[in-house]
Amino acid sequence: MNAGAREAASRTLGQWGSYAALLAAILGVYFACGRMSLSLAITPGYASAVWPPSGIALAAALLFGARVWPAIWIGAALVNVSVESSLVTAAAIATGNTLEALVGMALIRRHAGDPGRFERAEEVLKFVALCAAAAAVAATGASLWLALRDGMSWPEGWRNGWTWWQGDLSGMIIVAPLLLGWSRRDAGGGSAERRLETVVFAALLGLAALLLLAGDAPEVAPLSLTFVTLPFIIWAALRLGQREVSTATAVVCAIAVWHTLRQDDAAVAMNERLLLLLTFNGMVVTTGLVLAAVVREGASAMERLRRRHDRLESLTHRDPLTGLPNATLFRQQLEQLLRMAAGTGRKLAVALVDIERFRMVSDSLGSRRADELLNQIAERLTRQAARGALVARVAGDTFALAAHGFADEAAVARAVREQSAGWFAAPYRLGDDELRVSAHIGLAVFPDDGDQADLLFRHAESALRKAKSDGERVVFYAPKMSERAAEKLLLETRLHQAVERQEFLLFYQPKVDVHTRRICGLEALMRWRSPELGLVSPLQFIPALEETGLIVEVGRWALRQAVRDQAGWAAAGLPVPRVAVNVSSLQLRHPQFAAHVREAIAGAHAGPLIDLEITESHLMESVTATIASLRAVRDLGVGVAVDDFGTGYSSLAYLAKLPASMLKIDRAFISRMLEDDGAMTLVQTILSLSVSLRLRTVAEGVETDEQADMLALLGCDEMQGYLISMALPHGQIAPLLARQA
Ligand code: C2E
Ligand code: CA
Ligand code: CA
Repeated sequence: MNAGAREAASRTLGQWGSYAALLAAILGVYFACGRMSLSLAITPGYASAVWPPSGIALAAALLFGARVWPAIWIGAALVNVSVESSLVTAAAIATGNTLEALVGMALIRRHAGDPGRFERAEEVLKFVALCAAAAAVAATGASLWLALRDGMSWPEGWRNGWTWWQGDLSGMIIVAPLLLGWSRRDAGGGSAERRLETVVFAALLGLAALLLLAGDAPEVAPLSLTFVTLPFIIWAALRLGQREVSTATAVVCAIAVWHTLRQDDAAVAMNERLLLLLTFNGMVVTTGLVLAAVVREGASAMERLRRRHDRLESLTHRDPLTGLPNATLFRQQLEQLLRMAAGTGRKLAVALVDIERFRMVSDSLGSRRADELLNQIAERLTRQAARGALVARVAGDTFALAAHGFADEAAVARAVREQSAGWFAAPYRLGDDELRVSAHIGLAVFPDDGDQADLLFRHAESALRKAKSDGERVVFYAPKMSERAAEKLLLETRLHQAVERQEFLLFYQPKVDVHTRRICGLEALMRWRSPELGLVSPLQFIPALEETGLIVEVGRWALRQAVRDQAGWAAAGLPVPRVAVNVSSLQLRHPQFAAHVREAIAGAHAGPLIDLEITESHLMESVTATIASLRAVRDLGVGVAVDDFGTGYSSLAYLAKLPASMLKIDRAFISRMLEDDGAMTLVQTILSLSVSLRLRTVAEGVETDEQADMLALLGCDEMQGYLISMALPHGQIAPLLARQA
């Protein structure tokens, strides 16, 4: 035999050994208890008014399964043999007892929950009913057998069966829950208070038991027991638990048995009384168990409610993806952290970490991968956070952190630098992909930037906004910032209103021929007549229109309005000037740009006399796309002017390809050209360049006659500036044009 086989064999032997021990233990208890109980048997027959072995057998079957049957059978048979039954009778009764336990076990397991810990009142009632059914099996079988053997009369046989059934039933419902209750793993424990109460309960129950045992009015004792039982059972059911209910009942029953045993001579009468008492106790124990189950039911309903509440709480306070606190919880926790930090003289920092280009990452990787990335980031942030620091996910790709104990801002900056290296230096692994992630971080520091959670959070937000717009990694909050941010917000709101209320209008600035000084064109320049701010310069509102994207809509309006005005002058019989309209790069990049232009000039006066002015630096932003849409525009007969020329470093090759018809020399060069040789050289170069590229040239911002003369000398075509005229309201243009006619 090898070692493995030996081990297996010894394991098997061990298993058999413990099985045998289990059987022996059950058998012993069963026999002892049964022997005692049989001395209470009511004549004629052998039916005992109380038969705890039924409960022992049922508990054993429920605890260990059907395999305990030999112990029950042998135990029952020995009990019966010991009271001078024939072997056959003993075997018959033992079979009835065994069947009772097994049938009871099967039924209860199926329908009645755990008798050691009923969860609902109906389980108790089912349990009692099933025990009654199982007991009926044994009672009918055994009493039939005895009746046949001893030739009992029917009434006697019936009475015997009835006693038998009641004895088994009370044994089962009193003893099985008691044994199963105390065999549970969670026996004992509970709060200190509850343990104390249990001790007091046990002491009082013991005291009552002693008094009852010592009392020598045996005739009344069993009945008086019933009065003692009730308060104990109700106490146990409401405050302690099912185990204590069972215990109280069992103690009372034991006392009753004790008294009965002492009353040898009056055994029969006593047994009658005992039967009554047990019936009563059966009721009481059932009531007690039901009561305990109802109390438990209420408690577990409360528990469920509490759990649901907790879940709801976590749903409203936690980010479901990463499990981190959300913005609401973060603010609450920050409030607490601030209370701790107050008065320590140390700084607390709130950081908002915004993942760079997260939208792009999630668009290209898919949302599942993006979620995974967020989880990994959350994990790194949490892992590296100092003890007591807060980590939260406050928006899609924005995390918030808060930590305190910094000596000064420099310490905060150092910590952020070190930490963010840990967060982002190593790439993230998503399946087979490696992804490098970076972030913008906005910081606000307590107490310098505020002492309220809300304020600090908002300040960190404006720092983050600045970091994002300036392309900076880390930005500390500076007080000016939020003023500006607030102003900007207000401006944006007002601009949205301005669009709705049509508060924009066009001014026109004439362009003249350098030599004749006759008007050869007008530049449309937008104004905003704000009810709150008055007439606002485009320098103040165009950038905001661009940031909000409103420029596309407003720019389309400007083009339409210029075409309308032009048509108006034509209708008035005035010489029609070319009109140049400024176009933002945002409009230019709009996929429908050419269509917008086409639609705007649809109502134009006999062949469009429209130019579009596009700033040189904007043209350079997306060269190929720009060229395509400008070609489309040119094919419509619309001219293209390169605005602010000289500032954008256009390459010559690019300029040659551009479908432009006009260059506008930036005002900066014109105003400096007479004092500054560099500026003069540039103006000269632009002018000779445009000759070779066959582009018309316009000089912007001409303010003096000297400049005008110089431009004429250098061969510039047109000029524009305060020397000629400022931008004028629409109404003042018609007289100007009339004078030309
Ligand atoms: P811009 O296209 O370079 O327009 C010329 C600006 O110079 C105008 O300012 C004009 O009033 C000003 N100006 C003209 N002559 C002189 C001069 O002799 N001296 C000085 N110092 N300035 C002169 P404005 O009207 O304030 O417009 C500013 C900018 O706003 C424009 O620069 C243009 O880029 C933008 N803008 C104006 N209207 C529109 C529009 O309808 N759409 C777009 N996208 N941008 C516009
Ligand atoms: Ca312009
Ligand atoms: Ca310009």
